[in-house]
Amino acid sequence: MNRTLLCLFASLCLATPQHSWGKTPQKFALVIHGGAGSVTRENMSPEKEVLYRTTMEDVLQIGYAILKNGGTSMDAVESTIRIMEDSPLFNAGKGAVFTSVGTNELDASIMDGSTLQAGAVAGVKTVKNPISAARKVMEETWHVLLAGQGADHFAKEAGLEIVDPNYFSTKQRRQEQSEKVKEKHGTVGCVALDTYGNLAAGTSTGGLSNKRWGRIGDSPIIGAGTYANNKTCAVSCTGEGEYFIRGNIAYDVSALMEYRRMPVNRAVQKVIDKLTDHGGTGGLIALDHRGQIAMSFNTPGMYRGYILENGNPEILFFTEE
Ligand code: ASP
Repeated sequence: MNRTLLCLFASLCLATPQHSWGKTPQKFALVIHGGAGSVTRENMSPEKEVLYRTTMEDVLQIGYAILKNGGTSMDAVESTIRIMEDSPLFNAGKGAVFTSVGTNELDASIMDGSTLQAGAVAGVKTVKNPISAARKVMEETWHVLLAGQGADHFAKEAGLEIVDPNYFSTKQRRQEQSEKVKEKHGTVGCVALDTYGNLAAGTSTGGLSNKRWGRIGDSPIIGAGTYANNKTCAVSCTGEGEYFIRGNIAYDVSALMEYRRMPVNRAVQKVIDKLTDHGGTGGLIALDHRGQIAMSFNTPGMYRGYILENGNPEILFFTEE
C-alpha cells in the first residue's frame, strides 16, 4: 500500500460518526430528557407540543444561566431537575405515576463526576423535590442510597420541603391508573458540563405506572440510571428500569469510553443496541468532558433538549429529528 493510500485508510479508520451537535469543544453544556416512550407525532397535539417545548426551553435557559455565570454542573443538574419535578407534565415529583395500590413512590439520584461522589433516594412519598434529597444524601451522609421512610425522615431533618403524599397526584395520572396503563415513561434527567470542566448527572422519576409498591427502578441506582465521571462522561437514563439495572446501562457507556476509548456517541449507540438485544426499551442522554452530546433511544421518541455555549435551546421529540 503506498503512503497516500495508507494515510487515507488511517484517516477513515479514525473518523468517528459525529452528531451535528457539539462538534466544537464547548466550555459548558447542558442536556435534559423528559422520558422516552410513545412520543410520536400522532400522539402529540399542537397544544401539548407547545407546552412541552416552552417548559423544556425554560428549563434549558435556567441551566444555561447557572453555567454561564460560573455555577457548577451539580447546581445546574439539581436546579433543572427541580423545575421538571415541579411540572405536572413529567413523571417526576408532581405528576408522578401511581403504584398498583394508588400511591406515589419517587426515586432520584445525582452524581458528581469530579469526585465520583453520589447520592440517591428511593421510594420516597413526601419529599417535594427528590433530587435535592439525593444531593443531601451525598453531601450530608456517608451513604449513597436511602430508601423508604428513612429517606423521607432524613429529607425532613435536612430541612427540605415536605408535602402531603397527595401533592404528587394529578387528574391525568389518576386516569392512567384507572386504565391500568403500564410503562408510562416520563422520567426526567439532566447532564451538565461546567466551565471548570466538571461533569454531573441526575435523574428523577415516579417509576413505572402500576408498579408494585416497594418496587425500585434504575433511576436511583448509580451505574444503572445515572453515572458521571470527569474522565469519560455524564449519563442519565430513562426506560424500563429492570433492563437498565441488569445491564448497568449508565456505567457501561462510561466503561466503553474508558476502556475501549470509544467516543461518546459510539459508546451510547453500542449500549442502546445492547438494551435492544436484551429486549428492553428506553433511552439515554450523555455528555463528555468536551461538551460532545449523545442522545439515543429505541422507543418511538424521547423528550430531549440541549443548550450549548451559544445559548440557543434545541428541543427534540421524535425519532426522525
Ligand atoms: N426508568 C424508570 C423506572 O424504571 C422509568 C422511566 O424512565 O420511565 O423506574
